[in-house]
Amino acid sequence: MTQLVHNQADLREALDEAPAVLVPTMGALHDGHRALIEVARDWAKAQGDHAKVVVSIFVNPFQFEDPADFENYPTDLITDTALATEWGADVIWAPATDDIYGLVKPEGDLRAGALGEVFEGVGRPGHFDGVLKAVGHLFAVVKPRAAVFGEKDFQQLVLVRRLAAQQSPPVEILPVVTQRDLDGVALSSRLVRLSKLGRTAVQAIPQALACGAAAAQQGSTPDGVIAAVLGELDSVAEVHPEYVAVVDDTMAAPSRPGSARILIAVTIEGVRIIDNEPIELAAV
Ligand code: AMP
Repeated sequence: MTQLVHNQADLREALDEAPAVLVPTMGALHDGHRALIEVARDWAKAQGDHAKVVVSIFVNPFQFEDPADFENYPTDLITDTALATEWGADVIWAPATDDIYGLVKPEGDLRAGALGEVFEGVGRPGHFDGVLKAVGHLFAVVKPRAAVFGEKDFQQLVLVRRLAAQQSPPVEILPVVTQRDLDGVALSSRLVRLSKLGRTAVQAIPQALACGAAAAQQGSTPDGVIAAVLGELDSVAEVHPEYVAVVDDTMAAPSRPGSARILIAVTIEGVRIIDNEPIELAAV
């Protein structure tokens, strides 16, 4: 039976020292989160019967630079609890801010450093420090053996991998490919803020990523890939690109052919949307 807990004492009792796999979320659960919980479930199953899937639901105030964005973040604990239960959570941990911070000492370096100042970090100063602060404290409280994160937030995934490696013992990170709607749009809690027109305009993002991937396949350099993506986005007036980049697994500019990733951030009707796509570069 799934248990909903709020404070650390109840969490500890629910876990009963079982090995845990953690799925951190900010609630407003959708099918993207479902895939994460299913990966956690599979991991738990592979450990034997006693391992537990912990889904945390915590809207972390420290990763919002805009207080209005934090205030407007959709929250519905009743629906989220029902969904996480249906998808396989053993424990749902919905702490108050005071239940996370101050009570435990996190391990590792919670500063994002230079990697927190590029791409998503440019327009959102302090965002990744806020993310690492939350994840570090979640790790310290739950002490998970493994944790599940989506590739949708690629820069976050790279930073979290670094922090996970600094835990003792290290936390295994299980990445999950981006889950998409039927029209290719990456599932996101922010999509509900768009009008019908805006929701249609978002389709330009997966289309542009596909153009970039095709350009890479035809031998384009990263600059050529970026031009292909921007060219496709240009045709949709509602889409305002913030950045398009091609990076390697460490978020650096690719120095050799091989696997890389297109990163994209746009604004549509004032809503920021990010996405990315793995590609194979034939040339740099
Ligand atoms: P959030 O609740 O938006 O903070 O996201 C919680 C986790 O779900 C993060 O690891 C995200 O990367 C992941 N996630 C969000 N949307 C998707 C998606 N469409 N596909 C895969 N993972 C996702």
